[in-house]
Amino acid sequence: MKKKIILLLSLIVILVVIYYQEKFSLIFSNPKGFIDLFLNISRIASFSLYALALNMGIFLLAAIVEIMSIGWTKSSLKRILSNRSKSTYGDLWCWALSIFNLYDLFVLLFSFGLFYATTSLVMHSVYEVHLVNKIGSPIVVFMLVFAISDFKHYIWHYFMHKRPFWELHKYHHSATEFNLITTTRGHFLEKGFLTIIDVFVFLLLGVPPEYFIFLAFGREFYAFILHADLNWSLGWFGKYILISPKAHKIHHSNDENHFGKNLGTFFNWWDHLFGTYMDTDEEIKIGVKNTTYNKNGFWMDMVHGTKDFISATLKVRNTN
Ligand SMILES: [Zn+2]
Ligand SMILES: [Zn+2]
Repeated sequence: MKKKIILLLSLIVILVVIYYQEKFSLIFSNPKGFIDLFLNISRIASFSLYALALNMGIFLLAAIVEIMSIGWTKSSLKRILSNRSKSTYGDLWCWALSIFNLYDLFVLLFSFGLFYATTSLVMHSVYEVHLVNKIGSPIVVFMLVFAISDFKHYIWHYFMHKRPFWELHKYHHSATEFNLITTTRGHFLEKGFLTIIDVFVFLLLGVPPEYFIFLAFGREFYAFILHADLNWSLGWFGKYILISPKAHKIHHSNDENHFGKNLGTFFNWWDHLFGTYMDTDEEIKIGVKNTTYNKNGFWMDMVHGTKDFISATLKVRNTN
C-alpha cells in the first residue's frame, strides 16, 4: 500500500513539474519570480475587500433571519461566539479561509498544484460552445444558467456520496450542529474537484464571470439558510420546488436509511427525477457515525482526509 501511495505522489509531482516547468525556470533567473508565481497560481492576489464585506453582509442577513425564527439562545451566532464545540471550530476555520480567499491556496498545497494544472488543461482543451450567446433574452439565459448550474451541483454532490469521494465529502457531513457557516465546511480536495467541474461547465456555457458572482451570492444566502437549525419544510413549495432546510437536515442525518437523499442544493426537481427525494418526520440527528473527523482539530482532519481519500482511491482501483 505504501509503495502505491509513493508511486501516486511521485506521478503527481512529475506531472506538476512538467506542467509548471516553464514558470519554474523563471524562478531561477529571477528570485522575485517565486513570489509572483506563488501569487499567480494560488490566486491569493484575488483577495477582495468588497467580496469580504458582501460575504459578511449575507451571513449577517441569514443570522438575523435565524434569530428572528428561533431566538438568540438557540441561534448559530450564539454558538459561534461562546462555548464553541469542535464541530464549530471546524466550521469557523473553513469560513475564515473562504471569506479571506485562502481556501484556494490550501487546495493548491494539498494537491501539489495538480488541480490548477488540470483546471488550466480543461480551459485550454474544452471547446468554448458559448451556449448563452446563441440565446438573445437575458432572462432566459439567467434561468437556464441557474438551472444548469444547479443540476451540475446535483451531479457533483451525487458523486461526492460515492467512494472514494465520500472520504472527502464526509468532512462536510461530520458537523454535529448547524451553524449557518457550516455551508462553507469542506475538505480542501473536495473544493479542488468542484473547481474543475465548474470551469468545465462554465466554459461550455460561455457565461460572463459577473453572472456567476451574482449567482454565487444568491445561492450562498440560501446555502446559509439550509445550514441553519431551522425545521422549515416550506409546505408545498418545499415538496415540489425547493430543497427546504428540513430536507437538507435529512440529508445530514446520521441514520444510514437517509444516506444520499435530498442531494439538491436549491431545486429539488433533480431528487424527484432521480429518486433521491425523501421526506420524513423522524427525529434527525446530524453527523456521521464512526468517523475520525472532528476529533483532532481542523488541520489534522485535512491531513487524515487526504490520506483516507488516497487509500480509498487505490482500493477502488484494486476492486475494479
Ligand atoms: Zn452531502
Ligand atoms: Zn450541507
